This record gives sequence, C-alpha cells and structure tokens, in this order.
Amino acid sequence: MIRMKLNNESVGSTDLIVDIPKLLRSPGEVTNIVSSWDIDSVQTAYSKAVLMHLEIALEAISDRITVTGKLKLHWTSQCRRCLEATTGETLIEIHEVFEEGASEGETFELPVGEKLDLKPMLSEQAMLNLPLAALCSESCKGPPETKFFIHASGSAVKEKKDPRWAILDQLKLPED
Ligand SMILES: [Zn+2]
Repeated sequence: MIRMKLNNESVGSTDLIVDIPKLLRSPGEVTNIVSSWDIDSVQTAYSKAVLMHLEIALEAISDRITVTGKLKLHWTSQCRRCLEATTGETLIEIHEVFEEGASEGETFELPVGEKLDLKPMLSEQAMLNLPLAALCSESCKGPPETKFFIHASGSAVKEKKDPRWAILDQLKLPED
C-alpha cells in the first residue's frame, strides 16, 4: 500500500506547467510537485479519468529533465460483468525523461521555450492505465438474469427476453 502525501494539495492544473530555464539552471536540484488535477479529458470506450493525485519530483540532468514519482488515478468505468457503473483508483509509478530530439516511445520532447506543460505526458499515463475490463467487485456475479442462463431449463429461460418484445408482452394478457 503506497500512501500519498497530500499536503499542499491544490486542485487545478496551473502548477503542472514548469519553468524550463529554472530547472536547467540548477542541475541536480529536485523540484517536488504534490498536486491534484481534475483530469476530465481522458477516456476510452470503457473508462473515464476523473482525478489524478500526483507526487512527482523533477530534476535536470545535463540537458534533460527527468520526472519520477507516483500518480493515483481515480476513474469511473462500467463493470464488465453486471454493466453497472463503478469507480476505482490505479497507482502508477512513472520515470519519464524530457529531452530535445526525443526517441519515439521512450522519451518526451522537451519543448523549445520556457514552459514545460506536464499535462500531455500525464494524460498519456492516464490513458495507458485506465482499466479495460473493470469489475465493481471481485465477487461480482453479473446481472441477476445470468443465473437463469446458468440453470437454464424450461420457464427460467423465458426470463431472458429480447427487450424489443417487452412492449408486446405488456399488451398481452396472462395465459394461465
Ligand atoms: Zn459488477
């Protein structure tokens, strides 16, 4: 269990833009960022990012800037068994490097200019770590109707109807 220190926490994203010259001027000096970000632009077909707590350290090493630390990603998703909405959190450890002439898929491009916006990198981390097949709980058995299939026999099977016929059923009188 990794515990996050959330003192000096601020909700927002302004402190996720860092000053590049300042970092490069003091190589080996660690800049810590503890923050929360209302990340709402990252989603997949299955899940959506809600909030990211971050506790990261930035350090300039020669002309590169390294970012290491921990992210806690809160998300909403749909349970793959019962299809109910569910929420959860994922811990992500990062060790990323920003440099000029970045290697595709290995390091991030250090922009020309004064400001390094960490949000695109953090968004990528969120995207890669959103659950593909979330469960509302490990013991989720799926929707109640499923048991009629498992013990399928006679009338039980009728419980699973094509919803498109439901409207017709309402028009019919009971036959017994
Ligand atoms: Zn479920």
